[in-house]
Amino acid sequence: MATYCMDPRDVPGVDTAYRRIQTRLPVPESLPMFASLAESEPRSMLGQPPVIWHRAEGIQVHDPWGNTWLDWSSGVLITNAGHGRQEITRAAQEVLERPLHATYVFIHEGRVQLTRLLRELTSNPEANRVFLVSTGSEATENAMKLARTYGIQKGGRRKHVIVSFEGAFHGRTLGAQLAGGIDALKEWIVKTDVGFVQVPFPDGFRNRDVSFEGFRLALEAQNVEPQDVAGVISETYQGVGPNFFPTDYAQALESWCREHDVVLIMDEVQSGFGRTGRMFAFEHYDITPDLICCGKGISSSFPIAAVIGRADIMDLYPPGSMTSTHSGSPVPTAAAIANLKLIQDEQLVENAAALDVPLRDGLLAIQAAHPGPIGAVMSRGLVAGLLIVKPGTLEPDAELARDINERCFEKGLLMFAPVGLGGGCVKIAPPLTTPLDALEEGIAVLAEACEEILGG
Ligand code: PMP
Repeated sequence: MATYCMDPRDVPGVDTAYRRIQTRLPVPESLPMFASLAESEPRSMLGQPPVIWHRAEGIQVHDPWGNTWLDWSSGVLITNAGHGRQEITRAAQEVLERPLHATYVFIHEGRVQLTRLLRELTSNPEANRVFLVSTGSEATENAMKLARTYGIQKGGRRKHVIVSFEGAFHGRTLGAQLAGGIDALKEWIVKTDVGFVQVPFPDGFRNRDVSFEGFRLALEAQNVEPQDVAGVISETYQGVGPNFFPTDYAQALESWCREHDVVLIMDEVQSGFGRTGRMFAFEHYDITPDLICCGKGISSSFPIAAVIGRADIMDLYPPGSMTSTHSGSPVPTAAAIANLKLIQDEQLVENAAALDVPLRDGLLAIQAAHPGPIGAVMSRGLVAGLLIVKPGTLEPDAELARDINERCFEKGLLMFAPVGLGGGCVKIAPPLTTPLDALEEGIAVLAEACEEILGG
């Protein structure tokens, strides 16, 4: 994995309405913190651009030494309503000071309100149960467990297979990684042949076959018959691109699931709550998933996640047997309610939709200037990726992607470390509160960075 330079160096000062860089980077005073963490934590926790987050507000992240970054990370697509929102602070504070800090699955008012709100948001009369959990991985684990439970009840033990997509990411726990489609993340599992299969994702870039026939053929090639399948899980867009399904593929997948009584799970952990210019990204395809997994942007802050879905599937487990210690924990629940209200009241979904064209056009212009190394631009709403490749190939260039990301960091534009196949995707995910002029400033900084790194 490409790493960041940890030797403080002089960088040109920056002072705009959104960005301020006034020290060397990384800040020399921050180095002991990195050194201390390197001794205390597994190194897996390192790997992001070397900034110490001290305060994060709106669309900006501030360090303790007076530097300010325009944020294009939203943490990791968490802060849809912006960082550090007062409304969320007050909602959390009210519960903290009442006080009501933990309830296990004893009932509190917030849980009543949030589950009702989430049902309304999915605008699907059949998606009428909401199970609150703490993390995205917990949501995907539960969704797959429910699908397999449903499958074996309907079709016997044979009907247990979960189909997912190559390149998929559903979390870092065992089940989530079995369904994941990145081989390098699964080496530790060794025995992956436990009813999880992957098929190619129709991204149109690395896989040119975007017909649904590819799905059928891939199952056939792995000796999986439709009667074997309990569920299909996919991110609504694959985070590694972001890669979207062609609409007709998504609709054919939905029909196939209906035909074979297969549970269709859409993992909206990353894409939900407005990121793509729709409340949920599956709305782009005009399909109705049976189960929806949510996380991240559900609260723009504290850890909370959810599975939302069909009552006959969600009700498979009797009272007390599908729970978790912090299901609907009061503070994250209050934060989620305040956050969803902000997303609606401030029309943040609409803002993401309105910025779709400016972001895509801006990125396409950057690609046009550097057609060799920028293999593709993937963009919808306020999520996008530049896929950096070795010119003339589809091979990711992790070093170059890191260099672009690092140069942006030096200029006061913050993204998390490149993701995706071989680390080649420079991913862009600003808070949905970003105004047009800030987006344009970010695009100009990225263009400058690409110019400096990739040349004219
Ligand atoms: N699904 C998707 C699509 C994700 O992007 C992520 C997190 N990146 C997860 C699941 C896992 O969520 P968490 O890290 O909260 O467990």
